[in-house]
Amino acid sequence: MKNYTIYSLLFVFLFSFQINAQSPAKKDSDDDSKEKSKEAKKPKSYEDIITKDAVTDHGLFDIHKVKEKYYYEINDSLLGREMLMVTRIAKTASGIGFGGGKQNTQVLRWHKKDQNILLRVVSHSVVANDSLPISEAVLNSNFEPILYSFKIETVNRDSTSTVIEVTKLFTDDVKPLGYPQSRRKSYKITSLDSKRSFIESLKSYPQNIESRHVKTYNSSEPPSNASVGAISLEINNSMILLPKVPMRRRYSDQRVGWFDRSQVDYGLDNQESKSLKYLDRWRLEVKDEDLERFNNGELVIPKKQIVYYIDRATPVKWRQFIKDGIEDWQVAFEAAGFKEAIIAKDPPTKEEDPDWSPEDIRYSVVRYLASPIPNANGPHVSDPRSGEILESDINWYHNVMTLLRNWFFVQTAAINDEARGVAFKDEVMGRLIRFVSSHEVGHTLGLPHNMGSSSAYPVDSLRSATFTDKFGTAPSIMDYARFNYIAQPEDKGVALMPNIGVYDKYAIKWGYRPILSAEKAEDEKAVLDKWILNNQNSLLHRFGSAGIDPSSQTEDLGNDAVKAGEYGIKNLKRIVPNLI
Ligand SMILES: [Zn+2]
Repeated sequence: MKNYTIYSLLFVFLFSFQINAQSPAKKDSDDDSKEKSKEAKKPKSYEDIITKDAVTDHGLFDIHKVKEKYYYEINDSLLGREMLMVTRIAKTASGIGFGGGKQNTQVLRWHKKDQNILLRVVSHSVVANDSLPISEAVLNSNFEPILYSFKIETVNRDSTSTVIEVTKLFTDDVKPLGYPQSRRKSYKITSLDSKRSFIESLKSYPQNIESRHVKTYNSSEPPSNASVGAISLEINNSMILLPKVPMRRRYSDQRVGWFDRSQVDYGLDNQESKSLKYLDRWRLEVKDEDLERFNNGELVIPKKQIVYYIDRATPVKWRQFIKDGIEDWQVAFEAAGFKEAIIAKDPPTKEEDPDWSPEDIRYSVVRYLASPIPNANGPHVSDPRSGEILESDINWYHNVMTLLRNWFFVQTAAINDEARGVAFKDEVMGRLIRFVSSHEVGHTLGLPHNMGSSSAYPVDSLRSATFTDKFGTAPSIMDYARFNYIAQPEDKGVALMPNIGVYDKYAIKWGYRPILSAEKAEDEKAVLDKWILNNQNSLLHRFGSAGIDPSSQTEDLGNDAVKAGEYGIKNLKRIVPNLI
């Protein structure tokens, strides 16, 4: 019994001791959780966010992929800088059109605001000079919309860069970066299906970031596979750093054909606002050490040459012909005061430069695409502030050769036995490839079609070997003056297609020759006018866009369409009996 009491007392004592011992411990753990919640509010360290599992791609912004999340690490020196976002459809469902089509172009700016990074859209369509009172009104009515807001996740060790998570920018339905609103209506697109949308890749290069994402939209009228009730597209956004100092503009003039862009200027001394148009062109400048030679009329190599790379996928036997087509333009740039202004190169091999990619904005590439589309095209990307062409990729579809064979056969087989076979000799096809290469490169230099060019030549001159040898079959390679269907079998040695012609040299001079005496774009006008007036009565220097003007038509040749047509029909009558 005594023992029992002692044990009971001991038990009570021990029990109470345990309680006492536990109490402070419980208090400790309360403090711990407070501590932890404080920690959650404390900014996370760089290593907490960009963990050791991160896969990093260095470039304009460093891109980190951590598991399923994508982060941009933005160097603070790039905050506020203007960037051009070009949105294209990279791959499409059949029925929507060719892949590669440009959908949207915008200038963006990344801004830091408290604990967020804002992505804002900048407009360059309206301006007024900063020094004018009206500039404030222009600024106020062009408040930059915010496309997206990102929470700052962390900063790097020396606080020179900011990290944000961008996954949702590409997986959410951010319309300016996806399929355009205007086109959603045609397929009755209702919403984005996020379960069937994902990021394919985000890649960073020194001056651009390329993102590819697949978007699936619910649609009640898809162009194909109607039973699926959806459209899937692969979208490509290129974000390109714009130069700190925009190139000097050159204002356009409708008497010389150029791809141009326009801007409304409220600062001009006019009673109504006026739209200013300026050329899309490459930045070709004279090196400081060459100024004197340039002024003395010597040809000089520009500070930065225009370089085109030939896609590694191009069949070896066609490469030289494509290169020749590119460098054929050198002669036109000589009229602008430059030598070797445009050159063609093979890209480095994977061993020489494993990072080289046609997606890198620093490289313009003639891309060879294995596609049944019988076409080639030459789009370019330019700085909306100045018109500076930043990059251009020519798309060369394999089946452009089918098109060339058919044209060359129909238009020249009557007088040209080399155009009579089912497959042409490589030499013959190569010459045609060179011609198309030159024409497409012409577009990427800023030149549109000049359908008025071919009517400058008398029809009968196109039957003369000496005339066509000297002048080609049209003054411009930018006309649709494909092959000489006027020449008759007795016209030996006559040229069959145009070269870089009188008009092309004149247009390149007009758009590219630096006017060193001018201090600003406006001062160039008198000189540019003079260059036009020097040739005002010459049909060889005429520009005509396609339209109702009978002398500015596609596929015509010479100055008399009826006479040219009669010669052409004579030739067709020679071909037809040989077809069966
Ligand atoms: Zn064209």
